[in-house]
Amino acid sequence: MEKFPNLNVIISTGAGVDHILRDPNLPPDIPIVRLVDESLTSQMSEYILLAVLQYHRQLIAYKTQQSQGVWQGLSPRNTANCTVGILGLGVLGLDIAQKLKMMGFSVRGWSRTPKVLDNINCFLGEEEFKLFLSECEILVCLLPLTPKTEGILNQNTFSALPQGAYLINVARGKHLVEEDLLNALKSGQLSGACLDVFQIEPLPKNHPFWAHPQIIITPHIAAKTIPACVAPQIIEAINKSQGGLLLKNTVDVSRGY
Ligand code: NAP
Repeated sequence: MEKFPNLNVIISTGAGVDHILRDPNLPPDIPIVRLVDESLTSQMSEYILLAVLQYHRQLIAYKTQQSQGVWQGLSPRNTANCTVGILGLGVLGLDIAQKLKMMGFSVRGWSRTPKVLDNINCFLGEEEFKLFLSECEILVCLLPLTPKTEGILNQNTFSALPQGAYLINVARGKHLVEEDLLNALKSGQLSGACLDVFQIEPLPKNHPFWAHPQIIITPHIAAKTIPACVAPQIIEAINKSQGGLLLKNTVDVSRGY
């Protein structure tokens, strides 16, 4: 931000703002607006549904069987018995929680402030974190990256999940301690992971995730901003800022998201 001394408003071109808050030259008292957009929300939910269903319907095992010419049905899994836990019940977490519930999964969520949601078990803060994790067969991370959430996907967290749980990280790479994931897969504490975000992006060529048979990776594409969809709200934010009006979707810098 050093290059822009006359800012009135900062508008993130995505849902996250960690890259902006990290700037050592961030001017104080300038409002920061983030994008909240139906196209981002639906892309994210599609991605997570795809990741949940490929795990739940054992697609990787069938793909392996296909490569070996094996015709063999595996034991079916009861959807109602599969608990998906969502870390973060914000704009994105809430949407996928409701869609998974509609599909018959048992859904629980974790947030910083209390939530009351129909048929979704809500857990609160650090005190209820382990209890929340204890039944998550699938864990989805949709938290913002803040000092409190950095490294939250670590060995302690994995060991509080049921054995063989599956991890989906679509939030930020720095939520995950990558070495701990490799160890958890090796020990069988986790059975697999679907990752869209990484500590270093692009993922370095020699990174062990590339060839890991239990890891699916995608290049940070779970929900990408579509310029034509978000342009109207950017224009609205600029106009409101110039008119001195109240802005929508402003970031609370003190809480970090
Ligand atoms: P959001 O609306 O701000 O929701 C964040 C949620 O996380 C809220 O429910 C919040 O709790 C919870 N939370 C934050 N800090 C917490 C803490 N310390 N303990 C417990 N819960 C905490 O954010 P969003 O729009 O859903 O987006 C989430 C993140 O997804 C973004 O920050 C971004 O990093 C990531 N993202 C990734 C992609 C991609 O393509 N991979 C695309 C878009 C977004 P409260 O409800 O109590 O405040």
